[in-house]
Amino acid sequence: MDCIFCKIIKKELPAEITYQDKDIIAFKDRHPRAPVHQLIVPKKHIATLNDLTENDTLLAGNILQIACHLAKKENIAQSGYRIVFNCNKDGGQEVFHLHLHLLGGRSLHWPPG
Ligand code: 5GP
Ligand code: ZN
Repeated sequence: MDCIFCKIIKKELPAEITYQDKDIIAFKDRHPRAPVHQLIVPKKHIATLNDLTENDTLLAGNILQIACHLAKKENIAQSGYRIVFNCNKDGGQEVFHLHLHLLGGRSLHWPPG
């Protein structure tokens, strides 16, 4: 399967990895939109948020926990941050392997464009 994030997970493509356990990896976004911009990604290939099942409930919770852990590690927990799942075309999803964006380090506009 030709999936960029699966290739990063298999170490076939380089990335600045910030966290890793048996189920989840996090790395810096290649085109950061904020001083802190990381992606928290399940190692299992799940295409979109629509494809999450009941069996992924713990995994989804762990992804949130890791986002929070990384926000603290990056010292943006107090100043604030945003986490985003983009889903499909109108959501602006470009990579069809589930990922949570962690953005912070500056004031973020709301609502997004
Ligand atoms: P999406 O629009 O699908 O929610 O976000 C995909 C994100 O992945 C974008 O912010 C994009 O900059 C990032 N991205 C795409 N390809 C690569 C890559 O090869 N390496 C890294 N580190 N980030 C990538
Ligand atoms: Zn994948």
